[in-house]
This record gives sequence, C-alpha cells and structure tokens, in this order.
Amino acid sequence: ILPLKTIEEVSEDVEKWAIQKKEELDMLRRNEEFRKEFLLNLSHELKTPIFAVQGYIHTLLDGALDDPAVNKMFLKNATKNIDRLCRLIDDLDEISKLEIGEMTVAKEQFVVQDLIKDVFDTLSLKANTKGIKFSIKKGCEAPVPVMADKEKLRQVLINLVDNSIKYGKPEGHTIASIYNMDGKRALIEISDDGIGISEEHLPRVFERFYRTDRARSRDIGGTGLGLAIVKHIIEAHGQTINVRSKPEIGSTFGFTLESARNSE
Ligand code: ADP
Repeated sequence: ILPLKTIEEVSEDVEKWAIQKKEELDMLRRNEEFRKEFLLNLSHELKTPIFAVQGYIHTLLDGALDDPAVNKMFLKNATKNIDRLCRLIDDLDEISKLEIGEMTVAKEQFVVQDLIKDVFDTLSLKANTKGIKFSIKKGCEAPVPVMADKEKLRQVLINLVDNSIKYGKPEGHTIASIYNMDGKRALIEISDDGIGISEEHLPRVFERFYRTDRARSRDIGGTGLGLAIVKHIIEAHGQTINVRSKPEIGSTFGFTLESARNSE
C-alpha cells in the first residue's frame, strides 16, 4: 500500500504542475508570435519587389515604352527585382526544408582548407569588383580534416564569405582561420574588416529577416535569410556558431565542426 501524500506534498505537486502548464502556454504563445512576425516580414519582403516591377510596367505602358533609353533602364530594373524575388524564394525553400526537419546531414570526411579555397574561387569575381582580398590566416595552413555534410558546409561558407564581401569595406580583407580545438572539434572563423555590427544588433543577426539596415541589405541584394540558414545547418550538425563584431572595425563569425580524427 502506497503511503498517502501529506497536504504539503499535494500542494507542491499542484504548484509544479501549474508552473509546467504556464511554461507550455508561454512557449505556444511565443511560437505564435514568431509565426505572425514571420508572415508579416514575408509579405513585406515579397511586396517590395513585386510593387517595383508593377510600377515599371505601368510606367512603360503609360508611354515610357516610346523612349528607348528609358525603357531599357526600366526593364533592367524590373529584371533586378525579379532576380531578388527568385533569390528570396530559393532561400525560403531552403529554410522551410530546414525548419520542418527535412534536412538530412550526410557526413563525409574532408579537409576544411580545401573547401574554403573552393568557396574563395567561387566568389573571387565578386570580391575583385570591390578590391577585397581573400586569405587563409598564417599558421592555419596545416590540413584540418572534419566530418560534416560537405555541400551544406559549402552553403555555410558561401553565405559567410558573401556577407564579408557585401558588408566589407572596399580594398578590405576576408580571412579564414582554422583551428584544431581539443582533438574532437575544429573551429572555423571567417573575419572581415568591414562595417561591423553594433552590440544591440548582435544577438539578433541569426533571426530570419533580421537586418541591421534593411534598405542597405536590400540594395546589395540581401534577403535577410542567409545567417538563419547558416545557423540551422550548423545546429543540425550538433555544433554551434557565434559572432563577434565592432562597428567600423569588422566582424568574425566562428563555428565548430566535428574533427575527423575523432572517428578514425
Ligand atoms: P542579408 O541577406 O541581409 O545579408 P543575413 O542573414 O546574411 O542577411 O545577415 C543578416 C544581417 O546581419 C545583415 O543584413 C547585416 O545587417 C548583418 N551582417 C551579416 N554579416 C555581416 C558582416 N560580415 N558584417 C556586417 N554585418 C553583417
């Protein structure tokens, strides 16, 4: 026979239950807030390029079509906005796959420096247009083998290096550092000497659609989803990512990966 609980024990149980219920409710409310905010952001992000295209087409139909110089410029601007929409849809596709947990992480062994050099090659034209130089930090050349999903990691590095160009200063530098931490993990850092991020914005840059300067980001072709995608991918690997930054000095994004030596 189980001993009966005292009144104090019963009331303690009731209070624990009430706290748990309140936490569950708070979480539901927070999710609901996130969902609403996401939809609001999304409709805003979609509307901006669509309205721009609509504006250009209307103006062309209203007579601008007869002026060859103007119509070429308007069509170019309309195309730029359509490209933006396509990028947004691609990023949304990617992020919804990640969020409904459809992402499979297919780990393989590769050397971090090789992938970084590949990504530097892919983005070298874009960097050249701003005079930005890529390099691997001195002392970080020794090959660091890791176990990770190489294609997903390529996406992570492309997003981070692309941001270092977008928010980098002309004639600046993007530097990749690679460290073996404790034999179990490697640390990869992408640093720039660009515009930096102020302290108030830092904790939020990994949120979907969060941008320190919406107009500037949109002007340079940003969707506000790049870092959210990066964080998802790193977390799906069971690893962590963080950022250090100072306005006008630059930013460093650092993330960990599983060392390959661990699984040998
Ligand atoms: P976006 O498409 O706007 O670049 P991201 O999700 O990649 O979106 O980044 C979110 C925001 O974080 C950017 O709009 C920018 O304000 C800031 N940010 C990201 N990377 C950097 C960087 N290397 N230097 C300065 N600011 C950055």
